[in-house]
Amino acid sequence: MSPSPVPEAVAALPPLREVIARHDLAARRRLGQHFLLDLNLTGRIARATGKIGEGTVIEVGPGPGGLTRALLMEGAAKVIAVERDQRCIEALADLVEAAAGRLEIVEGDALEIDTASLGGTPRRIVANLPYNVSVPLLIGWLEKAGQIASMTLMFQKEVADRITAVPGGKSYGRLAVLANWRCQTRKLFDIPARAFTPPPKVVSAVVELIPYAEPSHPCDITALQTVTAAAFGQRRKMLRRSLGGLGVDTEALLKTTGIDPTARAESLDVAQFAMLARAFVSLP
Ligand code: SAM
Repeated sequence: MSPSPVPEAVAALPPLREVIARHDLAARRRLGQHFLLDLNLTGRIARATGKIGEGTVIEVGPGPGGLTRALLMEGAAKVIAVERDQRCIEALADLVEAAAGRLEIVEGDALEIDTASLGGTPRRIVANLPYNVSVPLLIGWLEKAGQIASMTLMFQKEVADRITAVPGGKSYGRLAVLANWRCQTRKLFDIPARAFTPPPKVVSAVVELIPYAEPSHPCDITALQTVTAAAFGQRRKMLRRSLGGLGVDTEALLKTTGIDPTARAESLDVAQFAMLARAFVSLP
């Protein structure tokens, strides 16, 4: 079989720095723009994305297209990239042409687009996320996790630690409960600030989230969000106090679940939060 011509056409494109200069892509802080130009790193992230030769890779915020190029070079069958900066969309035009039908750009705000429904299955989401919208985007994808095969996402290291945290630690909170309730999570590797142009103030890390076919412990995600928000909103208080804001009989709620009313949120595991969420919706 003759090799696919797409990687050759992509490899023949001018270097990313040239594309950035030609399109005057000065990074905009309000769009969380820190571009990754290191081909070793973009290749590593693309390879960590899993089986991209089938289905759709959904990339949020391609910027000048470093990670997008790597995905195509690593054999992605179809990439749909969502970008809101018109300058980047213009800069991506040559890559769209080189990709010969394998790259589609959707212009718009990923917070407003149903990104988890783009393209055919299996859908893999990959992104060097704009830091200012990374957590709301992740929560949105957790709500639609049944439509997603995997997520390979770059966050500030502190956020990556919060996603993969286990009970008892200081990073453990609402984000860890929601993420691990719906997905198997794993921190893959750190990326130093100097790898980006311009460098951010903090270290970044790549996290893999693989949604379970069904949530690990059945419960309604909205109830889980409500219960964890109350419990971790006052994380130093005992549950009998911190859950007071839920507007239900806290004593009855804790009694139904058998959870110690003097425990604090950080000591509860995902299964216990799911029990609280189920009890919360069943109470009068
Ligand atoms: N993927 C590129 C890379 O690795 O070099 C750029 C990553 S940069 C951290 C984040 C990108 O997301 C920027 O291109 C920015 O314009 C885009 N972006 C920011 N907010 C967005 C939003 N709400 N929806 C879609 N794209 C957004």
